[in-house]
Amino acid sequence: MPPTSISQRAAQVIPGGVNSGQRLIPGLTDLVIASTEGARFTDAKGRTYTDYHAAFGPPLLGHNDPEVAAAVAEAGRRIDLTGVGVTEGEVELAEEIVRLVPSVEKVLLTSTGSEATFHALRVARAATGRRLVVKFQGCYHGWHDSVSLNVISAPDKVGAQDPISTGILPEVLDATLVLPFNDIPAVRQTFAEYGADIAAVILEPVPHNVGCLLPDLEFLQSLRDETTKSGSVLIFDEVITGFRHALGGWQAISGVTPDLTAMGKAIGNGYPVGALGGRAELMELFSTTPGAPAFFAGTYNGHPSVVAAAHATLRKLQTEPVHEHVFRLGAAIRTGLAEIFTELGVPAVAHGYGSVFVSYFMDGPAPRTYTDLLRNDASRFIGYRRRLLEHGVFELPLNLKRSHVSYAHTDADVDALLSATRAAVRDTLAV
Ligand code: PMP
Repeated sequence: MPPTSISQRAAQVIPGGVNSGQRLIPGLTDLVIASTEGARFTDAKGRTYTDYHAAFGPPLLGHNDPEVAAAVAEAGRRIDLTGVGVTEGEVELAEEIVRLVPSVEKVLLTSTGSEATFHALRVARAATGRRLVVKFQGCYHGWHDSVSLNVISAPDKVGAQDPISTGILPEVLDATLVLPFNDIPAVRQTFAEYGADIAAVILEPVPHNVGCLLPDLEFLQSLRDETTKSGSVLIFDEVITGFRHALGGWQAISGVTPDLTAMGKAIGNGYPVGALGGRAELMELFSTTPGAPAFFAGTYNGHPSVVAAAHATLRKLQTEPVHEHVFRLGAAIRTGLAEIFTELGVPAVAHGYGSVFVSYFMDGPAPRTYTDLLRNDASRFIGYRRRLLEHGVFELPLNLKRSHVSYAHTDADVDALLSATRAAVRDTLAV
């Protein structure tokens, strides 16, 4: 029998039928996306969902933003890739990032966030001649080996080495130390013991890959102090927080300035653009500077179409009340969710920051470290989100994943989300 549906055809030629391991969602293996528009996407069966998953975060303005789409189309008519020299667009985008993000004196463009964090670690090792990297349980920094461990770990794996993939050299995993987030004593002890070997500390300043853990200011400051004292490189991975929570990222909000910053996602509103920026003396170690030792390359870096997308996105973020809108809707969602959980007597914490929200099915208070999230009832978390789908509301039905509001979401969408929640939570409790 020849395959009939698109998902059946996909399964025959694409392993598992999807192009990212993060898209393999139990119960959604036959989801075929047909189109996107504003706050929604429509599947091949004609079902339209209000989209709070938002592709893991890029479309802060909403899908198919008209200005972004027009800028990309215009660039595509005028110029594509040459692979030599530089374009004025790249220069203007770099100038804009340098102006907006406190830590960034110089910046290089990549196509993805993973490439930005990869090169951040490479240059940190190049600059310090040291081996070790410190990361935190619950943080995700992309698919490369040094950081491919201890993201969402089972309870018995917290505190142990927990790779997310096979095929990684053990010596690479051994060179990454994993600490609990928001734990100042653990940081101090690690620096006391290994400080002279630590090339870099990398973190999501707000670990959004497990929903939302808000950082204590003193924790961020202690990282700044310890890395400065030991001569290691402090890397903020602002792939999610950057431009979404503030134009200058979490470093602008906290006042703690890292040495290097990885960026991506919201800067291109869905087009593949990432960036790595930071102190000039570190950035000038990349081989884009004559004679410099840390190799840096990428055929598509600074592609005119994605640069145009980033320009149009940053322009809109600065000329329209985007942050005001998404912060207001995010707050309304968190308040509304908390009221519903109280009304229904469900132990749950409506958490998040700005445009990001997540409901953990556990008693309060709000989590501060990954271990706190082990109290979350994963089957309720996923069950609730599966029920939301029946109401046309899409929050990714995977444990601990965050949701996002965009500039395209409306007050009516928030009302619909809250009524869907009331019904979905009742149904989830009933089973
Ligand atoms: N860092 C963070 C904080 C991320 O959330 C992600 C992607 N989810 C990455 C890095 C990797 O970015 P990309 O998928 O664009 O390689």
